[in-house]
Amino acid sequence: MGMCKPSGGKMSQTGRIGSLKKEGMPNTRIDLFNENGELIQQRWYGPDGRAVLNRDWKHSKKGGEHKFPHNHFECWLQSSLC
Ligand SMILES: [Zn+2]
Repeated sequence: MGMCKPSGGKMSQTGRIGSLKKEGMPNTRIDLFNENGELIQQRWYGPDGRAVLNRDWKHSKKGGEHKFPHNHFECWLQSSLC
């Protein structure tokens, strides 16, 4: 099972960074779009339905410059983003 081709399928949602849930359908990916229809974030859910990876395509540059897209891995032990 490759990370980029989730076996459970792909979904899309409109919202903003922070809109996506920590848990979802197992083995799926959600593409999050803003009101302008721009892809801003993708989130992958693992076999247990917990988010395993976020890929950010667009967000504020507070705290320094970012390259887009970039990945954030979910740390479930700490229940926060690493
Ligand atoms: Zn980010």
